[in-house]
Amino acid sequence: EGLGRFRNFPMVDFTLEAERTAFPAAIERVRARAGGTVPLFINGQAVETGDFLDSYNPANPAEIIGRVCQAGVDEVDRAIEAASAAYLSWRDVAPEARAAVLLRAAQYLKDNIHDFSAIQVLEVGKQWDQAHADVAEAIDFLEYYAREMIRLGKPRRMGQAPGEMSHLFYQGKGVAAVIAPWNFPLAISVGMVSAAIVSGCPVVYKPAGSSSCVGQGLVEMWKAAGLPAGVFNYTPGRGSVIGDYLVDHPSVAVIAFTGSMEIGLRIQERAAKVGPGQQQCKRVIAEMGGKNAIIIDDDADLDEAVLGVLYAAFGFQGQKCSACSRVIVLDAIYDKFVSRLTEAANSVKLGPAEDPANAMGPVVDKHAQENVLRYVRIAEQEGNVLVRREVSDELKASGCYVPLTIVDGITREHRIAQEEVFGPVLAVMRARDMSEALDIANSSRFALTGAIYSRSPANLERASREFRVGNLYLNKPSVGALVERHAFGGFKMSGVGSKSGGPDYLLQFLDPRLVCENT
Ligand code: GLU
Repeated sequence: EGLGRFRNFPMVDFTLEAERTAFPAAIERVRARAGGTVPLFINGQAVETGDFLDSYNPANPAEIIGRVCQAGVDEVDRAIEAASAAYLSWRDVAPEARAAVLLRAAQYLKDNIHDFSAIQVLEVGKQWDQAHADVAEAIDFLEYYAREMIRLGKPRRMGQAPGEMSHLFYQGKGVAAVIAPWNFPLAISVGMVSAAIVSGCPVVYKPAGSSSCVGQGLVEMWKAAGLPAGVFNYTPGRGSVIGDYLVDHPSVAVIAFTGSMEIGLRIQERAAKVGPGQQQCKRVIAEMGGKNAIIIDDDADLDEAVLGVLYAAFGFQGQKCSACSRVIVLDAIYDKFVSRLTEAANSVKLGPAEDPANAMGPVVDKHAQENVLRYVRIAEQEGNVLVRREVSDELKASGCYVPLTIVDGITREHRIAQEEVFGPVLAVMRARDMSEALDIANSSRFALTGAIYSRSPANLERASREFRVGNLYLNKPSVGALVERHAFGGFKMSGVGSKSGGPDYLLQFLDPRLVCENT
């Protein structure tokens, strides 16, 4: 099969002149194409509807990126019907052939990586390097799940009993509804969709409203890869109109969701009910929120720790479920760390992601802006404001900006210590010693990511055991998981799924079968 070992696609290198010039050129190209009607894609055909949602640039909402056709329940019905029909043949296509489609899709993304990055800069306000990292992660999912399906696709001989030949193998569960978030608009979409498809499950994909143009890229990608009609259907639509309908539909076998805890729990509850004519139990894969902490030990390397916390808390405006929203600082180093953190936070540049000098830009849309501003007020009431940075009045008037906010004096009872903000709001918490720091870190119903900066091997080892989260990073920020190397996902209220980009992920889309022959 000649497939080499999986390797992560490299991060962008801006010391190369070619990379520095490729970005503005791609932004210009994508901008020139932007603003048109974006149709649905059902059973291999573009489908227009009469209901539109404008997707806009959060740095300048007057700039429309696409007028996205919205699916209603009729279009969802047609998409599910197409996917159900495609399932009957797609499930029996050899795993290697399904994997080959993913590898061709990966090649298409590699060939167009700057355009796929540029549209994220414009549609969700993602910084250049992070937009590139998002496309790289999408490529990684395709390359990794292709190899995983080949591994799982080989029937496994079970037992050695004489007189029988017994084999275990897998089959795709059925139609998968994929409900994706806007924050990793390509990577998480491609991850969930490609896992389903390579497993033999045709997909009805609902991108988030504010990143539906990035989501439309999946249509182009699967076309380029030669995926048969009906195996991938693109149905952007309002959650209030098609969300429950998709989840409740009796022909859906798998629901793959990444987003808020509230919606994740709602999906699980609804998916447990059996609809008329339903033939299977539904499997829900839900990756939900986080309230992630970074512990700063009293012997931490502060140069590293300050940068790590800033990046984890404010990279992409804190809009990551892995973002650091609590920093727990040991008493002995508290004043020193906090003054350095404050100084560093006061020196980062704020403004549109289009200008790579800016470390932090607008949040994704007006709705997110309102929500984050509400939490900024809560943070200000509950704690002492250490940093509150805003963009110029001119920028503020034109884009969806919120202040970069750091407060201290926060204890575990505060709302700002417990609720996910999904924005650039960081709570600083003081701990007497490592025991208390770990206790505070674990005092959350979420368990997604965490990190600790320490030079003490004993404390690192202790944190490995006692800091109970899905992904723990020692002397590294809590964000930026790489496929395979940092297989990603949490537990408690952070998720019911297994780790994306990890060795168990595809099993969630598969039904195991066993055939035993009496020989
Ligand atoms: N995988 C991402 C990271 O490690 C976070 C994904 C998310 O926000 O949903 O930063």
